[in-house]
Amino acid sequence: MELTHTNGLNRLQELPVLEYEGLSAEENLELRRGGVVVNSLEVVKGWARSNSMWPLTFGLACCAIEMMATGAARYDLDRFGIMFRASPRQSDVMIVAGTVTKKMAPLLRRLYDQMAEPKWVIAMGACATAGGPYVKSYAVLKGVDQVVPVDVYIPGCPPSPPALLYGLNMLQEKIRMEARGKRVTQA
Ligand code: SF4
Repeated sequence: MELTHTNGLNRLQELPVLEYEGLSAEENLELRRGGVVVNSLEVVKGWARSNSMWPLTFGLACCAIEMMATGAARYDLDRFGIMFRASPRQSDVMIVAGTVTKKMAPLLRRLYDQMAEPKWVIAMGACATAGGPYVKSYAVLKGVDQVVPVDVYIPGCPPSPPALLYGLNMLQEKIRMEARGKRVTQA
C-alpha cells in the first residue's frame, strides 16, 4: 500500500480528541476549532501550577512506602507533571505520609516554612489526618493540621496508590477552582 501525505493526515484526524484539564467544555470546543480562548492571568497561572506540582521528598512512616509506589513506574506520577524534589525550596506540595510525633512536628513546620509560595499540604492516611492507630499515644500529634494548614485529607491505613492519585487530582482541581475565584474550603 502506498503511504501518502494524505494518508498521514487522515490518520491524525482519527486520533481521539484530547481534553485540556481545567478548561470548560466551551473553551475546549473553541480550542478544537482552532480558535482563541481569552482568560485571566490567574486562571492560566492556576492551570500551569496544577499541572506542575512538585512534592517534597518526605516520608514519616508506612504510608511513605505507598507514596513511593505511587511515584514509581506502575502509577507514574510524572505523567501529571508531579515530580518529587529533594529540597523544600523547590517544592510547592507537602505530602505528609505517616505518623507525626510531637518531637517531629516543629521540624515538619520548619520544612513547610521553607517551601515556596503558593504551597499546599496533603494529609495522607489516618495518622497524618487524626493520629490513626496511635491516637491515644502521648507522643503522637492528633492530626498534622495542628501545625500546618491541610488542603486535602486522604483516608486509609495506608491509602493505596490510586487513593493518593485521586487526592492529588482533587488538589489539582482545587488549585484550578481557586484560580477562578471559587472558594473550595473554609479558611
Ligand atoms: S495511617 Fe497506617 S499505614 Fe499510614 S503511617 Fe499510620 S499506621 Fe502506617
